[in-house]
Amino acid sequence: MNKFLDAIRQADSIGITGHVRPDGDCFGSCMGLYNYIKEQFPEKETLVYLEKAAPEFSFISRSNEIRHTPDEKEYSLFLALDCGSSDRLGSFLPLFEKAGKRIVVDHHISNTGFGQENYVDLTASSTSEIIYTLLEEEKISRKSGEALYLGIAHDTGVFKHSCTTKRTMEIAGKLMELGIPYSQIIDQTFYQKTYVQNQVLGRCLLESLLLLEGKVVASCIDKKTMEFYGAESSDLDGIIDQLRVTKGVSAAIFLYETGFREYKVSLRSNTELDVSKIAAYFGGGGHKKAAGCTMSGCYRDVLTNLCQHIGAAMEQEEAMGN
Ligand code: 5GP
Ligand code: MN
Repeated sequence: MNKFLDAIRQADSIGITGHVRPDGDCFGSCMGLYNYIKEQFPEKETLVYLEKAAPEFSFISRSNEIRHTPDEKEYSLFLALDCGSSDRLGSFLPLFEKAGKRIVVDHHISNTGFGQENYVDLTASSTSEIIYTLLEEEKISRKSGEALYLGIAHDTGVFKHSCTTKRTMEIAGKLMELGIPYSQIIDQTFYQKTYVQNQVLGRCLLESLLLLEGKVVASCIDKKTMEFYGAESSDLDGIIDQLRVTKGVSAAIFLYETGFREYKVSLRSNTELDVSKIAAYFGGGGHKKAAGCTMSGCYRDVLTNLCQHIGAAMEQEEAMGN
């Protein structure tokens, strides 16, 4: 029997959450699982807790039922999805901590194994892919499938990042067979940009810098500029991906100001350079080729600090012949 589904069967009340500033995979895995439980176990008291996500994701079934603020409930089972460490649960951490049983499902190399049961697969493209494999395939509905497809498409950069495997494509194919609007999901949640999103993307590209002899590209947006454009943090998704495809660069850095002398950092690697190690050094984490952290200091200090570590890691890689 599947231990994961047994835990769901045995629980009377089930809470699900993901990481702060939910991205496509976080949202998709949580909602894929939520829809499955609501359909297969309607008698259970089940809820999803997530910070507000991109409005483009709201077509996913039952999105209107998501709780955006924590409450006092004590769940018999609480699941943390797509989170490498407990601090990534943000304000929902107490809900997780006081639950009778705590399960983690994740694919980050930096995962600390903070659950009582941990379903961590570093070879999976996405948490949504892991969720698919943990559920009974023939019981996955179109509603649940749409969410899982959204998650897989986002974390693979629409099936192009190196985390995409044959298994990823097979699962995506099976989800397509459910009759999901796959072109629409990709176009409307990944490629389509609002006018504001395009403006801030343009501005960040225009102001990007080539550093470390052209091996690194970096850009930053401060709070004042975000306010000027009326941009939210979810409007910045995709900027790092555009920076990353700059010809000749090994790594890309994107920063946005989140508070006084505080920046959210996104890192991407095109080579063997492991950016999860750089992010982990600064208290964050992620994957080998995509990672992030939060850093304090002025923009120049943060960038200098990051470049020092990236430069040293690149030299080490070169010395090893990679
Ligand atoms: P992004 O740059 O798209 O925000 O994040 C890239 C990857 O790094 C994602 O898998 C994300 O979960 C992870 N990540 C981003 N920021 C943090 C952070 O502050 N801490 C940890 N542990 N992981 C992060
Ligand atoms: Mn993910």
